[in-house]
Amino acid sequence: MEIIKHPKEMQDLSKSFIKSGKDIGFVPTMGFLHEGHLSIIRRARRENSVLIVSIFVNPIQFGEHEDLDRYPSDIEGDIEKLSSIGCDVLFHPTSSLMYDKRHSFYVDPGQLSEHLCGRYRPGHFRGVATVVAKLFNITKPTRAYFGQKDYQQAIIIRKMVEELNFDVNVVICPTVREPDGLAMSSRNVYLSEEERKRASTLYRALKSGEEMVLSGQSDPNKVKEYMEDMLLSNGISKIDYISIADPETLEDVVEIKRPLLIALAVHIGRARLIDNILIE
Ligand code: AMP
Repeated sequence: MEIIKHPKEMQDLSKSFIKSGKDIGFVPTMGFLHEGHLSIIRRARRENSVLIVSIFVNPIQFGEHEDLDRYPSDIEGDIEKLSSIGCDVLFHPTSSLMYDKRHSFYVDPGQLSEHLCGRYRPGHFRGVATVVAKLFNITKPTRAYFGQKDYQQAIIIRKMVEELNFDVNVVICPTVREPDGLAMSSRNVYLSEEERKRASTLYRALKSGEEMVLSGQSDPNKVKEYMEDMLLSNGISKIDYISIADPETLEDVVEIKRPLLIALAVHIGRARLIDNILIE
């Protein structure tokens, strides 16, 4: 596996792949790879002749009081995992190679970043859209793969590609979970043993919400109240949001209809955890 740090070098290599008729699969990550990442990376491996994975903890998507400084990393372990999957190129730039001191251009995702996590992480999706736009220009993918776990991110990228005419196919892959339902996340390492146990409530709350919808509940507030009670009674009291939303616009619905997104974000100890379920 080739490891490249310089954007220009990566771009030149991608150009040569394209020139020789290869299709490029690309998976952007922030590293500390777990089975959620690896399932996406394996799929990208199967579906493309060249596989590029990026590891870059993007400073401009973190808020002032967020976990940029302590974001977990294990680059040696990541390299081993990527090599064993048969990844062709790891793009692993530094912040200063990605952003000049006077960097001034940003991609503004508009309305879609005003809902769900966007309300609690101002500027986050602008940072995400900007880095993904840069990564697309650098790696020139045929297909780029994202996880449903970060649903709002995936939808924003899909919309960016559509509205700004990026020549990339965006593929959204299912959420990979621990046996008790907790969505895998690099941030799960922040949880103590006791917090880790409580964290399984998130998926149970989402499943209960889904069950209520499937059995005919039409009032989103009833579903939210039930889910909130579940979280509170399991000691999860710092809830950013529980949202029952239109999966396209991400706006909260006033009456339940399908397709439907149930999404939540909570804080447990030092970790901010998100999860969602899509009801088709
Ligand atoms: P991150 O390193 O957290 O930025 O994640 C990189 C990519 O992996 C994003 O597209 C995430 O949505 C995806 N991802 C992270 N965790 C999971 C998971 N548990 N299941 C599926 N995809 C995931």
